[in-house]
Amino acid sequence: MIEFKNVSLVYPNGTQGLKEVNVQINDGEFVVIVGLSGAGKSTFIRSINGLVSPTGGKLLVDGQNVLDTKGKELRSLRTKIGMIFQNYNLVKRSSVMKNVIAGRLGHTGTLKSILNLYSKEDMALAYESLKRVNIEEKLYSRADELSGGQQQRVSIARVLTQKPKYVLADEPVASLDPPTSHQVMKYLKKINREDKITTIVNLHFIDMAMEYADRIIGMRAGEIVYDGPASEVTEKT
Ligand code: ADP
Ligand code: ADP
Repeated sequence: MIEFKNVSLVYPNGTQGLKEVNVQINDGEFVVIVGLSGAGKSTFIRSINGLVSPTGGKLLVDGQNVLDTKGKELRSLRTKIGMIFQNYNLVKRSSVMKNVIAGRLGHTGTLKSILNLYSKEDMALAYESLKRVNIEEKLYSRADELSGGQQQRVSIARVLTQKPKYVLADEPVASLDPPTSHQVMKYLKKINREDKITTIVNLHFIDMAMEYADRIIGMRAGEIVYDGPASEVTEKT
């Protein structure tokens, strides 16, 4: 469970990214956060794994306050949180396989990954994860040879090898065309349902949120201004 208790974040230049946010995200939920650019969606998501640091309140992930967590403890907390980004964040010149295994072994730079010393287990898990998003035939392609939608599916496979409890997706479809966006949202929903991964996704578009979310949180100027089941959102909300 993720709990925000009066969480505020003021950036060094004085911009208020989050203002007294109180919210609880329960295990297994598929939550979509909507709001205009600058509303604080990305700050909200990045606070959860300590990519940005709130300046007040308490932010609990499974009871652990992220605000007092650093170093080794923070790295350990991050192993249970998979991240998906707008621009995929793959190592462009590396193979799909290597990118996906990085979800399990940590990023490039470990000796195993430099030397391509992968165990059969690592390779099997990478292959299985790619299969879950139907892109196993690209195993040996270079990441930058793939289309945007394919790269985002690889980044979902990378998250799967990490076996996370949570997935945080920061504008995962903002660089994709509508059909590809739906495809990516369907895979995110599928892993949420099949693997019971608690998922939080930032989106610009309310129609897409209504189609996939269990629950929609609306943000404006660093505050939560709407929170309710997707089924209760109407065009007027
Ligand atoms: P998005 O709204 O899609 O998150 P932005 O263009 O707002 O993208 O932000 C891109 C990057 O610039 C992010 O890393 C964000 O933290 C940073 N950023 C955004 N606004 C400011 C700002 N006013 N001053 C400094 N950095 C900023
Ligand atoms: P969203 O994801 O909804 O577009 P953000 O969380 O990126 O919103 O931004 C919330 C507010 O914080 C915006 O006013 C943005 O300009 C500001 N902001 C984001 N990152 C930074 C940063 N690194 N430094 C200063 N201001 C920032």
